[in-house]
Amino acid sequence: MRQIILVLFALLVQTMNAFTQTPQQLAEIWDKSHITNKFPSDVRLADLKVYLEQLKKLGVPVTEVGRSFGNREIYQADFGHGPLKVFLWSQMHGNEPTATSAVVDMLAYFQSHRDKDWVKKIDEAMTIRVVPMLNPDGAEVYVRRNMQDIDINRDAIDLITPEARLLKKLRDDWSPAIGFNLHNQGVLTTAGKSPNQATISLLIVYGDAAKTTNPGHERNMRAASAMIRALQQFIPGHIAQYSDEYTSTAFGDNFSAWGTPTILIETGGLYGKDEMYLVKLNFVAIVTALNAIATGSEANESTTPYLSLPENSSGGLIHFVFRRANVIDPLTSTPSGPFDITAEIERQRASLTAPVFIRGVTPQPTSIRGLEEYDASAFNAVQRFGRTKAGELAELLFYKKERVVDWKAADLQKQFPPDAIFSLGKWSKGEGVVPRIKY
Ligand SMILES: [Zn+2]
Repeated sequence: MRQIILVLFALLVQTMNAFTQTPQQLAEIWDKSHITNKFPSDVRLADLKVYLEQLKKLGVPVTEVGRSFGNREIYQADFGHGPLKVFLWSQMHGNEPTATSAVVDMLAYFQSHRDKDWVKKIDEAMTIRVVPMLNPDGAEVYVRRNMQDIDINRDAIDLITPEARLLKKLRDDWSPAIGFNLHNQGVLTTAGKSPNQATISLLIVYGDAAKTTNPGHERNMRAASAMIRALQQFIPGHIAQYSDEYTSTAFGDNFSAWGTPTILIETGGLYGKDEMYLVKLNFVAIVTALNAIATGSEANESTTPYLSLPENSSGGLIHFVFRRANVIDPLTSTPSGPFDITAEIERQRASLTAPVFIRGVTPQPTSIRGLEEYDASAFNAVQRFGRTKAGELAELLFYKKERVVDWKAADLQKQFPPDAIFSLGKWSKGEGVVPRIKY
């Protein structure tokens, strides 16, 4: 009897293994198989078309389903033959590109590995439809809005933009059972009040302000719990819940109201990791959810991991803090302080140099935490081009306090070479001279 149980158990484990992919397996799959090769922020429609050509060659049906206000093509790609309709759309905000690459990589893998048991299961259980770049005009110039300067995600009711009209039509014509609304959030968003960046935030979107739940909403919460467990293998403490405040003109909320319960995934930042790592995390999260729904393992998930996520928070984190520096005012040439100087990197494409701006110069120790912090208490700091104040570029020259410097010198840097120079978010001279603070 005991032997039979053991054999049955072994068989069960084997079956589970064939269908259930661990997060590590999915990450390895992405490492080996991803076809996207540019940082997502550098991907314009022309680059996406290259990816879509590759998908077509693999046999993925890719069709143009509409045009943007600027007459750029909007595409749809499909996978699977099953009854459950799953609709994913990405980059309705032009400067929110991470998931676009992730869904391309997912379709490429699924299509070329249909013989694998677990992919076959997805193929048979669901039909997946993807619109990988809903706002190609915004993507072209890396801005949130469309070419009419309208936020497509506030246009679900008025339908002034062709992109919103298309998105609504695609939903209404097909009535998908699940929606995935794929975005990026600010990289300084934190998981609760912790200083941890919220690298992935999830929201199972309600369809009304009263937060009415239904079976689709419950299923999505369980799928979210599966995603959270997978992501915790890579980014523990960096997963949060997006605000569930109802927005009557947003698409996620309306998709849910129109009968397509929707999962919002917002990708934030992760210090020390590049955009491709975030693509991998998206791939792992989305495929985990689809895998769990296709196998039915989602039904065994609890909603607790989702419901106990810390909420998104902002204002507690900044890119750089230089603590307790004396600041030189070029008008009076006298050091004052100590001050905490905070600085933030502007959102920019990976291939372009992002400017860094001073956000604050405060006499009290700031409670804001920096992704990088420096102890500048032994230094005088002067802004290279003007005053050391909020709104100016964070181009900072650091001089040891004991040095005698004529701050009014015409060519200050030449006559009095700084001990360290912080420029464009890096130490261009004297790295390590201003000591790093580590928590
Ligand atoms: Zn967005």
